[in-house]
Amino acid sequence: MPIRFNYCPHCNEKIMFRIDLGDIDTSQYPAPVYIIHEDTSCGKISTFYVDSLLRISYKELDKKPGGIKTIRTIK
Ligand SMILES: [Zn+2]
Repeated sequence: MPIRFNYCPHCNEKIMFRIDLGDIDTSQYPAPVYIIHEDTSCGKISTFYVDSLLRISYKELDKKPGGIKTIRTIK
């Protein structure tokens, strides 16, 4: 299961999460997945869009339509 590193679009802290193809709707790319920043000073949800190799294309601050899973970041 790939691990991805990125930045939370709310607080700009570095985040890390695990994702695999079962976490997204593979019928259309980039595919959205919801990410919860598991941190007491943030805790906010955002939408990350990934391509077929689960690389992050872009992200949005809030919960956009089309996602099928919510992933919590790893500490
Ligand atoms: Zn955050």
